[in-house]
Amino acid sequence: MSSHVLIAGAGPVGLVSALTLATAGIQVTVFERNTTAPEDLRASTFHPPTLDMLARFGLTDELVSQGLVARYTQQRDRKNGLVAEFDMSLLEGETQHPFRLQCEQWKLNKLLIDRLALFPHASIVLGAEVQSVSQDADSVEISVKTASGIQAFRGDYLIGSDGAWSAVRQSLGIDFEGFTYPERFLVVSTDFEFADHFPKLSYVNYVSDPQEWCVMLRVPSLWRVLFPTSPDESDEEVLTDDSIQNRLQNLLPRELPYSTIHRTLYKVHQRVAKEFRRGRVILAGDAAHINNPLGGMGMNGGVHDAFNLSDKLVEILTAGGSPDLLDRYERQRRAVAIEYINANTARNKKTIEERDPETRRKTQDELRAIAAHPSAAKDYLRKTSMIDALERAESIT
Ligand SMILES: Cc1cc2nc3c(=O)[nH]c(=O)nc-3n(C[C@H](O)[C@H](O)[C@H](O)COP(=O)(O)OP(=O)(O)OC[C@H]3O[C@@H](n4cnc5c(N)ncnc54)[C@H](O)[C@@H]3O)c2cc1C
Repeated sequence: MSSHVLIAGAGPVGLVSALTLATAGIQVTVFERNTTAPEDLRASTFHPPTLDMLARFGLTDELVSQGLVARYTQQRDRKNGLVAEFDMSLLEGETQHPFRLQCEQWKLNKLLIDRLALFPHASIVLGAEVQSVSQDADSVEISVKTASGIQAFRGDYLIGSDGAWSAVRQSLGIDFEGFTYPERFLVVSTDFEFADHFPKLSYVNYVSDPQEWCVMLRVPSLWRVLFPTSPDESDEEVLTDDSIQNRLQNLLPRELPYSTIHRTLYKVHQRVAKEFRRGRVILAGDAAHINNPLGGMGMNGGVHDAFNLSDKLVEILTAGGSPDLLDRYERQRRAVAIEYINANTARNKKTIEERDPETRRKTQDELRAIAAHPSAAKDYLRKTSMIDALERAESIT
């Protein structure tokens, strides 16, 4: 009897896992709560190793054609402008894609869904909410709410890639350890061309400021600007036209109001699940770890989980590999989530919002010195591009 893997959630992590398994001839069923694939504003940066991994499916060139190749990233100061610029071409020889790709996350999802449709043994069930999980020594069963009622499905393994509020994780009672920041993050997108007004602006800009830092990211048709918000402002207040215009006008005053295309306000957390594996159920992506978006490591780290995990499942299900491989997945990816993804994103937030003038000056001097020395800049880029994190995972047995 052929193997069957169930996957909760059709985000990038569930879909990459599904495509890896389907490509190896394994039957997969993805259950997705939504009835359509949303085109919302989420991650927009693909790091070089993620592009290298997706090349396995022949999807990277297509994704690159739908995005913007960012050769440079910048650290800026809101008052004084450019602090340090990093040239990602220093990573040549370390990766097939020595650049960051600025491209909306939903475009990857769409490519993955289209590719998955080519495999008769792969299916995505929309409008299907996984509610609970049970398992025995030989199989796992999920209870799924659909338009026609609650249905049960059984498979050999279940991947819980159902996002930050994972029902799979909750059904297993696995702690999601960490904290929630008091401030929420606001992302506003506009078709206004900031590059005409900020000299030498790159596509990826971390702009520090003791009062109101921001991140300015270019995607093909828009600029996205990420701002922190005060815990004292209500959601409604933050999202009013006046408040959005004020924030943008503070960043760059102009006579006309800004036209905004999207606005998203969300809570930000640093959390890692206490276990990534319980028997035949394995957590990956946001279901396993969440972090602030400074550094673009959430989706990328999740996709790295997906490749690591699904390669191991292929080995177990098609080549007689030991299920203990899944414990190695947990050791590898949990260590990276804690030591690397959460640690670096928390540090990035601390740096960008630093208020003490002396500490700010010291950090900016250090960044300038790193950018001025190619070998130091390369080390910095290996870290910020998650190459170091993947090497760390590989070193864990
Ligand atoms: C508003 C927002 C903005 C973000 N911005 C950034 C950013 O700027 N930069 C960055 O790096 N990262 C950002 N992220 C994080 C990034 O989007 C995630 O790290 C990434 O989506 C993780 O992928 P995933 O597949 O694990 O989870 P998701 O993309 O969340 O996918 C999970 C899927 O599971 C489905 N689902 C949920 N519950 C169930 C259930 N019970 N049954 C079935 N299906 C279910 C959901 O509908 C969803 O389709 C943002 C996240 C959010 C929410």
